[in-house]
Amino acid sequence: MKHDPDCLFCKIIEGKIPSKKVYEDEDVLAFFDINPGAPIHFLIIPKTHISKLADATMENQQILGKMMLLIPKIALDAGARPGQSGGFKVIVNNGADGGQEVYHLHIHVLAGPRPWKQELLG
Ligand code: AMP
Ligand code: ZN
Repeated sequence: MKHDPDCLFCKIIEGKIPSKKVYEDEDVLAFFDINPGAPIHFLIIPKTHISKLADATMENQQILGKMMLLIPKIALDAGARPGQSGGFKVIVNNGADGGQEVYHLHIHVLAGPRPWKQELLG
């Protein structure tokens, strides 16, 4: 399990910075975004430090797949509406042009009734 002492999300994983957790197991953590862009907005992160999607390798294949497969259940637990009339949006920002601000790989999950803030798309 890699860890970067200067990384904000590694500090959240360690409990050094508080977060409102939605899901946790030995490999991943999901917590609500501090500046939500939608009525429901959480981040799911690997517990091992990966800076960005472009730095992930085949070694990370299992954890990336696990995060994607956990999202639908965590989204429902976080309050996303079920079924085809409900749902959620998944976003990964990569690098400066991608709008990434925190360099620990994270998947944004947004849900709930619109309108939503547009800033994540900018
Ligand atoms: P990105 O621009 O994709 O790097 O997104 C980083 C996200 O982390 C932003 O949506 C921030 O609101 C969120 N964020 C930053 N600090 C915290 C924190 N302490 N707890 C929860 N979310 C945070
Ligand atoms: Zn980290």
